[in-house]
Amino acid sequence: MIPYGRQQVTQEDIDAVLSVLNSDFLTQGPIVAQFESAVAKYVGAKYAVAVNSATSALHLACLGLGLGPGDLLWTSPITFVASANCALYCGAEVDFVDINPITYNLSVDALETKLTLAKKNGRLPKILVVVHMAGQSAEMDTINFLSHKYGFKVIEDASHAIGGKYKSHLIGGCQYSDVTVFSFHPVKIITSGEGGMAVTNSEHIASKLELLRSHGITRNSLQMVKFQDGPWYYEQLDLGFNYRMTDIQAALGLSQTLRIDDYVAKRNLLAGRYSGALKKLPLTLPYCNNDCYSANHLYVIRLCLNKISKTRLEVFECLRMLGVGVNVHYIPVHTQPYYQQLGFKIGDFPESERYYNEAISLPIFPGLTELQQDFVIQSLCEVLQ
Ligand SMILES: *Cc1c(COP(=O)(O)O)cnc(C)c1O
Repeated sequence: MIPYGRQQVTQEDIDAVLSVLNSDFLTQGPIVAQFESAVAKYVGAKYAVAVNSATSALHLACLGLGLGPGDLLWTSPITFVASANCALYCGAEVDFVDINPITYNLSVDALETKLTLAKKNGRLPKILVVVHMAGQSAEMDTINFLSHKYGFKVIEDASHAIGGKYKSHLIGGCQYSDVTVFSFHPVKIITSGEGGMAVTNSEHIASKLELLRSHGITRNSLQMVKFQDGPWYYEQLDLGFNYRMTDIQAALGLSQTLRIDDYVAKRNLLAGRYSGALKKLPLTLPYCNNDCYSANHLYVIRLCLNKISKTRLEVFECLRMLGVGVNVHYIPVHTQPYYQQLGFKIGDFPESERYYNEAISLPIFPGLTELQQDFVIQSLCEVLQ
């Protein structure tokens, strides 16, 4: 089976991890700091805080921006559940903004309409989590403008998007947001096994995130509030967590940062080949916004169901049977049983639901060979006949 995504681990990566295993530090140590510096430098942000997952990074980013009970966070329904769950961890409420049916990112028109209404009702969001779906940036200029007009904070969930660009800036520079979050899960652009990172240009937010990732404890005397009993002394200043990344993970991640550009270039090459080969089929292919250079984490096709005789399930199962490891991204978050219990209904976000009923993710990853890709293309042609 050709998987939809797969990590690539080189001998250099393995050597980097082995050298940590032979060093004095296993958990957070000097290599985590090096990984943070490398990512901050690469994306053009001032500060970076590495944690054990993007989910943890989202949680800490929300806390760092002051999200709490009584507050509201908005995000897109077409994302992984973590983009919404982070609000619930903080005791806040979640609501969604429907997607733009062309880009699959949250619709800035729907956002503006919803903000106008929310302002009247006194229920404006404190935070908007903007997901760069499949690696293509959302319309950050407009989102930035609206965030100032309505006074909300912006977190970019760039789990799909390291190495991607918006208006020639690498995603993560935080020109249009307070915090940007990356995931280093093995299916993402680069991996540390498990891992995530929050980047920001705010020293205040960065130091809050550093505190919270390790129990709210500081060993920095400048931050302490009481008399220091002795050299062993530390202070817990806030209620934090153990969200630390290990140096073992950071060594893998750091080694992989050198290949971000190559990986994204390869993904763009593969996406271009798909788009050329599939354009005559009854499909909607990914839209390329001229303002963006997509990281192409996913290559999502939408079936024109009125032009084919199979259902999405049938197309999916036929492809799997042929050995093409297709997948679906994503089940709209508001349709999950947990979110239905919170009061969301089927029909609440119709563009997201329509998208979900037609979407299939084709295999795309740096190690996908042209031969394998041709097999995917040929299989899809057969199945759609
Ligand atoms: C993968 C992913 C996450 C969660 O990342 P983890 O590192 O697995 O916690 C969050 N948001 C989006 C959009 C993702 O794709």
